Amino acid sequence: MVEDNLKNILKELPPEVKLVAVSKFHPASDIQAAYNAGQRRFGENRPQEFAAKVPSLPDDIEWHFIGHLQTNKLKFVLPYASLVESIDSLHLLEAVDKWGSEHDKVIDVLLELHLGAEETKGGFTEEEIESILSRSLSGAEGSGAEGPFSHIRFRGLMGMATNTDDVSVVEADFARIEAFKKSLEDRYDLPGFTELSIGMSHDWPVAIRHGATIVRIGTAIFGPRVY
Ligand SMILES: *Cc1c(COP(=O)(O)O)cnc(C)c1O
Repeated sequence: MVEDNLKNILKELPPEVKLVAVSKFHPASDIQAAYNAGQRRFGENRPQEFAAKVPSLPDDIEWHFIGHLQTNKLKFVLPYASLVESIDSLHLLEAVDKWGSEHDKVIDVLLELHLGAEETKGGFTEEEIESILSRSLSGAEGSGAEGPFSHIRFRGLMGMATNTDDVSVVEADFARIEAFKKSLEDRYDLPGFTELSIGMSHDWPVAIRHGATIVRIGTAIFGPRVY
C-alpha cells in the first residue's frame, strides 16, 4: 500500500520537487517499507521519537526535522537531521547556531513563515525573517570574529497553509510565501537560499503551482496517524 501511494504521488510530482515522506507516529517498519520502494527522504516532528527511530534504519536516509523544537532537545535532532525545516523563533535559531559552534557543524535550516489565520501556529513574520537575514549578512567583517549565525546555513523558507477546504485561501497563503521568497532572492545575496517547503497531503498540488521545491506528505503515503 505504501508503495502504491508513493508511486501515485511520484507520478504527479515534477521531478525537481523533493518529496519528504512524513513518517511521524508511524513505526520504523513503515519507513523501511517506503525505503524498500525507493524513498530516501523522510520527515519527523517529535525529537525523541525521531532519535529512537534513526539507529534502526538505513544510514543513507536523508532526515528532515519538521516539528516544533525546544532548545533542550537539540541533541535528539541535530546530529541526524540533514535539514531542520521548522526554525520558528530567534531563540531557537540562536541555540542551534551555538550547538553547531560547539559541535563544529554547520546546520542547514529553513525559516518558517507564519501563514494562515490560526493564532496557534508558529513561525516568523516577514519582518522577523528580514531582520535575521540582514543580521546574518552583516557578518563580522574585518573584525576577525565569527559573524552572527556562523554555524547556520539558510536554505530557504517553510510554511503551512491555513487548514481549510477553501482552495482560494490556500492559494493566497502559498502565493504570499512564494512572493516573499522571490523578493528576498531579489534583494539579498543568499547563495543556497533556494528551497520553498510548502504542501502537505491535501494541498501539495496547489503548492507545486506556487513554486514548491519540497513537499511534506504523510497521510497520503502512510495512511492515518494513530495518536
Ligand atoms: C504532519 C506534518 C506534515 C504532513 O501532514 P499530512 O497531512 O499527513 O501530509 C507536513 N508538515 C508538517 C510540518 C507536519 O507536521
